[in-house]
Amino acid sequence: MDTTKRKEDFRTYYTAVVDALGYKFNPDQELVDFLLEQEVQIERKFGSPFCPCQAIVGEREEDMKICCPCIPFHKKHFDYMKQCWCGLFVHKDVTDPSTLRQIPACDVPTEE
Ligand code: SF4
Repeated sequence: MDTTKRKEDFRTYYTAVVDALGYKFNPDQELVDFLLEQEVQIERKFGSPFCPCQAIVGEREEDMKICCPCIPFHKKHFDYMKQCWCGLFVHKDVTDPSTLRQIPACDVPTEE
């Protein structure tokens, strides 16, 4: 399938899914375009659009937790960062994604 068309398919599908989770695409269009391009290539190679920023381990159950958009599996962690791990998606209220940073899951405070 044509790469541009597939990227547009991802955009359409992801927009609906992440909207319901309180997220939107990163306003940095160059970053979004780059990451979607990577996902198209990954899908061609592995059969699913796994995360461009997380390692595939080769176990289906584990790997499906990093199939984009993986937000439901990591919501507490991503909500704390206000972005997903790659930064493809950010919280709806984020206007300047350059202020955000990756924070390891182990550094996310646990609830008392
Ligand atoms: S971290 Fe972001 S880009 Fe990577 S799979 Fe999850 S939602 Fe997609």
